[in-house]
Amino acid sequence: MTKYDVAIIGGGILGTTISYWISNLYDIKTCVIEKESDVAMHASSRNTAVIHSPFYLDPQKKKILAKASIISYRMWKELAKERNLPWKNVGKLMVALDEGQHKTLEKYMKWGVQNEIPQEDLELLVGNEVLKKEPNVRCYSALNSKRDTSTDYGVFTHEIKKESEKNGTIFLLYHKVNSVKITTNDTIVNFDDNTNITSKLIINCAGGNSLPIAKKFGLVEEYSDLNFRGEYWIADGKYGDLVKTNVYSVAKFQGYPFLDPHWIKRSNGETEIGPNAIPVLSPETYSGYLGDLATSIAKISEIATGNAKKLFMKPDFLSLISKEWLSSISKTVMIERVKKFIPSIRSSYFSKRGTAGIRTPIITPQGDFLPDVMELEGPNSYHVLNYNSPGATGVPAYSAFVVKKLQEKGLLDYPVKTKPSIWNFEKVIDQT
Ligand SMILES: Cc1cc2nc3c(=O)[nH]c(=O)nc-3n(C[C@H](O)[C@H](O)[C@H](O)COP(=O)(O)OP(=O)(O)OC[C@H]3O[C@@H](n4cnc5c(N)ncnc54)[C@H](O)[C@@H]3O)c2cc1C
Repeated sequence: MTKYDVAIIGGGILGTTISYWISNLYDIKTCVIEKESDVAMHASSRNTAVIHSPFYLDPQKKKILAKASIISYRMWKELAKERNLPWKNVGKLMVALDEGQHKTLEKYMKWGVQNEIPQEDLELLVGNEVLKKEPNVRCYSALNSKRDTSTDYGVFTHEIKKESEKNGTIFLLYHKVNSVKITTNDTIVNFDDNTNITSKLIINCAGGNSLPIAKKFGLVEEYSDLNFRGEYWIADGKYGDLVKTNVYSVAKFQGYPFLDPHWIKRSNGETEIGPNAIPVLSPETYSGYLGDLATSIAKISEIATGNAKKLFMKPDFLSLISKEWLSSISKTVMIERVKKFIPSIRSSYFSKRGTAGIRTPIITPQGDFLPDVMELEGPNSYHVLNYNSPGATGVPAYSAFVVKKLQEKGLLDYPVKTKPSIWNFEKVIDQT
C-alpha cells in the first residue's frame, strides 16, 4: 500500500491549488485523489468564469472570501500575463431596477471600499449614464465594477497542476474514494476498484461531495446539502454584441446563495445568459432531473427526513425554486428574467445551451443555507466544505490561508524548503 504524508481528495481548483502550495513549501509525499480522468471536470470548469470584485460580499460575514478575492486578483493577473492564459477585462454592471435595489447598490459601494477595492474601479451610475455606456441596458441605476474579468478556471487549474507536478505531487486520476479507515497515526483510503493508499493527513476538497466525505470521518452528521444546477444559453452570432460588458442584477431573494441569471461575456468571445438554480438530486446531474437511481433515492429520503425538509417548508424558498424550475423548462421564461434590463433581447436569439454547472450549498441543522465556507478539523484530516462562489476567484490566496492554518495546527510539521515558484506564500500571508 503506497504511503503518503498528505492526500488531498478532489482535483478541482481548490484541491489542486492546495497541493501546489504544499509541494512548493515542503519535500513531502503528496497526492491529489481525483475520480475523473482529469482535474477540473466539475464546478471548476462548469461556471460563469468571472474574476469577481468582492463589492457584494459583506465585509463582516464574508471577510475571508472578500480578502482572498482581493489578493487573488493580482495573482491571477500575473499568472495569466506570464503564461498567456485567458484574461478578458470585460467589467461588470450590477443594475438596480428600482429605488429599493438602488439602496442595495449604495450598500455595495460601501462594502467595496471596506473590502479594499480601489476607489477608481467602482462607480455608481444613474440610468441615463448607463444608457450612454450601453444603449441596450435599461435600469434605474447601476454599479460599474471596472476590473471584473472573464477567464477560464479550467485552464487555470491545469496550469497549477503542472506546477504542482513539477514540485513532486502525484495526481491519482480515476481514483474514486469509497471508504476510509482511521487508525492512530494515519488513514487508509479505499477506492472503488478495491485498491487503497494510506496517508498521515487527508485534506477533503471534494466540492459537491465534500459533505458525504466529511461524514465518513464522523463529522457534521447533523448537516445536509442540496444540489442546484445552473443552466446557460448561448447568444447566436451578432446578438452577443448587444451589450459589451457583463450585466448582473440585484438578487431578488437576498437570503439565498444565488444571483438571478445575468448577461455574460466569456473569454472565448461568446455571450451567454445564466445561470438559473434548479434543484437536482446529485452533484453531477447535468441534464435531466434525477441522476442515477440509487443516488436519487438516497437524496429524496434524505430530504424527506432531514433538515432540508425545513427549507422546503419556507414560502419564500418555494417561491424562489418554482421560478427557477420554470426557467429550466422554458427558455422564454429564462430570457424574460434578463429582458427586464436588456429589453431588446428575444428568445429566438439563443438557440444553443451552454455548459451547466452544479452548486451544492450546505444546509444547517436549522434548515438554513450555511452562509460561508466551513473548515473542520477531524481525525487525521482537515475538511473544506461549502466552498462556493466566488470560490474560484479567491482560490490562490484562500488555499494559502488553509495551508497556513494547517501549519499553525502542527499538521504540516516538516522543514520548509521553498522552491522558486509562480506565487510567493509569505507575500500572500503578509497581506492578511
Ligand atoms: C454555475 C456556477 C457558476 C459559478 N460561477 C463562478 C464565477 O463566476 N466566479 C467564481 O469565482 N466562482 C464561481 N463559481 C464557484 C466555483 O466554480 C467553485 O467555488 C469552485 O470551482 C469550487 O472548486 P472545488 O475544487 O471546491 O470543487 P470542484 O471543482 O467540484 O472539485 C471537486 C473535485 O472532487 C472530486 N471528487 C468528488 N468526490 C470524489 C471522490 N469520492 N473521490 C475522488 N474525487 C472526488 C470531483 O470529481 C471534483 O473534481 C461558480 C460555480 C457554479 C457551479
